[in-house]
Amino acid sequence: MTEERQSGLWDRPGAMIRPNDHPVPHTGGWRMGKKPAVTLSQCVNCLLCWQFCPDSSVVIEGTTFSGFDYNFCKGCEICSAVCPTQAVVMVDEETPVDRWGRIQEVQSL
Ligand code: SF4
Ligand code: SF4
Repeated sequence: MTEERQSGLWDRPGAMIRPNDHPVPHTGGWRMGKKPAVTLSQCVNCLLCWQFCPDSSVVIEGTTFSGFDYNFCKGCEICSAVCPTQAVVMVDEETPVDRWGRIQEVQSL
């Protein structure tokens, strides 16, 4: 019997959530056909998309915008709506982009 069971914690209603003790669900599977894609040359690194993304799916390296993590992006379009330079557009799920949703890198291959 574990220490927690002995202490009676497991007999209480509700759930116990402990950091780093559970798998992180890839909620990107909930997207409904559209995903964000970015043209980096149009990005001015304002990070508004990062601030407003409700799923922490905007990837930054240090303080520089880098793209999107499709494992968690739900395609809500907020990043596209707040981007002041239209660097972010919503595209069909099948549209080829690199793993971070960057359009330029694919076109230059
Ligand atoms: S579409 Fe929504 S969830 Fe996906 S990166 Fe943009 S703001 Fe975040
Ligand atoms: S909102 Fe647009 S311009 Fe600002 S960091 Fe995001 S992609 Fe770049």
